[in-house]
Amino acid sequence: MADIQHLIDIIVEEMRERPDKGRVADYIPPLAHVSPDKFGMAVVLADGRMLCGGDAQEPFSIQSISKVFSLTLALGMAGDGLWNRVGREPSGSAFNSIVQLEREQGVPRNPFINAGAIVMSDIILGRGEPREAIGQTLRLVRDLAGDDMIAIDEHVARAELATGFRNEALAAYAKAFGNLNNEVDRVLGVYSHACAIAMSCAQLAMAGRYLMLGGRNPETGKQVLSPHRTRRINALMMTCGHYDNSGEFAFRVGLPGKSGVGGGILLIAPGVASVAVWAPGLNAQGNSLLGSIALERLAGRAGWSVFEPRG
Ligand code: GLU
Repeated sequence: MADIQHLIDIIVEEMRERPDKGRVADYIPPLAHVSPDKFGMAVVLADGRMLCGGDAQEPFSIQSISKVFSLTLALGMAGDGLWNRVGREPSGSAFNSIVQLEREQGVPRNPFINAGAIVMSDIILGRGEPREAIGQTLRLVRDLAGDDMIAIDEHVARAELATGFRNEALAAYAKAFGNLNNEVDRVLGVYSHACAIAMSCAQLAMAGRYLMLGGRNPETGKQVLSPHRTRRINALMMTCGHYDNSGEFAFRVGLPGKSGVGGGILLIAPGVASVAVWAPGLNAQGNSLLGSIALERLAGRAGWSVFEPRG
């Protein structure tokens, strides 16, 4: 195998030198203050080795990457019945688009756009209290990463709730079509807190290990998800993980990934590696600009792709 630490070190240097770092998301106020100069990368290999570079230990807002963990939790609760309420097609639209939701009668295109994750938050909430549902999500992430220090940034969650008018509209729309059982504000409480989980690249790459290992959490030895469902989550990350930029990401990187507007991306090389990258500046579609370039280089140079025979 290529010397991965060497590859990371080179990529960190290359990214530092790039003049165009993209635009930091400013529609969630606390995210607007994050420096676009941050860059971190962490790789956990199948044998358990962890390799890091740059700001890999600094926590950032995982935002939509949480949708992967919410899907894991919601699938465990609702089973395949979940697919009656959320689709599995790439949206080809912005992550917070409302037009498609109307056209498709309140059934979101996939679990990785905001509307889809709002419906999953309703499933996770069930008949319980938002506080419990939020606690369950955080517990899952901590278990997956093997790290009890992971926490929710309340400041981010509150800011998002105070300014998330589009998400309110999406939730109200889903409710109008009968695809939300709970009240809009309770569901959004669960949704926003999941988005506000703060993790470093190192913690995130650890949390992604089950997706590289067929659903097994190497920390506990327990099967978090069946291999079959794990494969499906990876398939959805590949086809829907980068909003209306998903085709481009698959074309360039060739591996399942999920981005968030905090500038993080979780990337899975099945059987080989779980990777997290963080660069807060975004491209026009809301995906980390340097993060995408860095992952394209890492996957290309390491020879990782689901489309190439493994040597
Ligand atoms: N919390 C963000 C929102 O609801 C998530 C967006 C994202 O990361 O794509 O707008």
